[in-house]
Amino acid sequence: MEKIVSLCKRRGFIFQSSDIYGGLSNTWDYGPFGVELKNNLKAAWWKANVYERDDIYGMDAAILMHPKVWEASGHVQNFFDLKSDCKSCKKRFKAEDLKGKNKCPECGGELTEARPFNLMFRTYQGPVEDASSAIYMRPETAQGMFVNFLNIIDTKHPRLPFGLAQIGKAFRNEITPGNFTFRTREFEQMEIEYFVNPKDAARIQEEWVESRFNWYLGLGLKKENLRKRPHGKDELAHYALACTDIEYNFPFGWSELEGIANRTDFDLKQHSEASGKELKFFDDAAKEKFYPYIIEPSGGVDRSVLAILVDAFHEEKVREDMRVVLKLNKDLAPVKAAVLPLLRNRPEIVEQAKKISADLKKSFNTVYDDTGAIGKLYRRQDEVGTLFCITVDVQSLEDKQVTVRERDSMLQERISIDRLKEYLSNKLS
Ligand code: ATP
Repeated sequence: MEKIVSLCKRRGFIFQSSDIYGGLSNTWDYGPFGVELKNNLKAAWWKANVYERDDIYGMDAAILMHPKVWEASGHVQNFFDLKSDCKSCKKRFKAEDLKGKNKCPECGGELTEARPFNLMFRTYQGPVEDASSAIYMRPETAQGMFVNFLNIIDTKHPRLPFGLAQIGKAFRNEITPGNFTFRTREFEQMEIEYFVNPKDAARIQEEWVESRFNWYLGLGLKKENLRKRPHGKDELAHYALACTDIEYNFPFGWSELEGIANRTDFDLKQHSEASGKELKFFDDAAKEKFYPYIIEPSGGVDRSVLAILVDAFHEEKVREDMRVVLKLNKDLAPVKAAVLPLLRNRPEIVEQAKKISADLKKSFNTVYDDTGAIGKLYRRQDEVGTLFCITVDVQSLEDKQVTVRERDSMLQERISIDRLKEYLSNKLS
């Protein structure tokens, strides 16, 4: 993990939030390469789940919602961890982490009784800070989709099963955040709410587990680092009938990337009762009205980015040197091509390289770099997972060809400048 954290900082993937003020603990900012990786991941998810399907619609609900949503959803009553405080050092611990011990694990001090601690961030809307203006930062994106159920029925007229997909920020006042970006208080979720006939729910949940597992494999994560883990009855959330997690073998152990839950008709029923609007589906063929069940594949953007970085990180011996290389798949790699002049003191070479870079930028994320010797420039690109390095040399001025070096094999080919775009398009498609 230390190597990953250090690479992320050194190369501009992820920085500590508010670093110049000593940092805000467990809060992270994505830098130039981090935001590209994250955007590429979200685009891959959206493509697979919205663009490539006819039965799932995208949406983007607001983070702030009517406070009654969180009463109906059960979050005000049920979304809490039990915690104890140490009377001496004042540290706070999750009851489940204490495993029945009644002394502080840090200083041996006396602990308070375990008390419920709600995980929702609460703030106030408008100028008056009183109970009637209290509002929550959403702890999951899901509810924004449930409350739009009727809007979607009215505008899209879908048949069952159909789904909604959304990517957005969620906030939880976690008691024990940590492991870099794995558990934070502000994070991003990629969630699908898939509405199904109750009689099909168990089968469709299984299908989603398979399809989501395969999606992670398709991103290039190694099969031996992924597993499915069905929940025991005692660990299910208050709304779930069943849940299977997809876990990744992080350096700190197997941990959840995504949960695929059968939420039953809990949410639609609760919101119907609380709002007075009936969130039922009318099945035209069977002429019956009922509450659909919801199958929810819910994953974390930040956790996936972390798993991808861990999985892609390689240290290899190349002759006498070690090279660090991020073997990111072609869709996820932040930079597709880097154009490098072999001699930066030769204006014709620099000019040619800049021209090639400007041209490629119109099609792929391309960078130009002339700030070091070629060996150093290659290393730098390998560390951020750039797929192709294109070198312009003296000969290029005569034969109008460049050297293209592929990241993983490090094999080099001479390619004519005219054909470069076509060559890269083929490799990247
Ligand atoms: P955990 O048990 O790890 O706290 P959870 O089961 O409470 O997670 P869900 O409520 O199922 O998580 O949320 C769906 C997804 O959102 C998770 O699989 C995870 O990828 C992501 N997620 C949840 N909480 C956090 C967090 N604090 N930081 C980063 N990602 C999170």
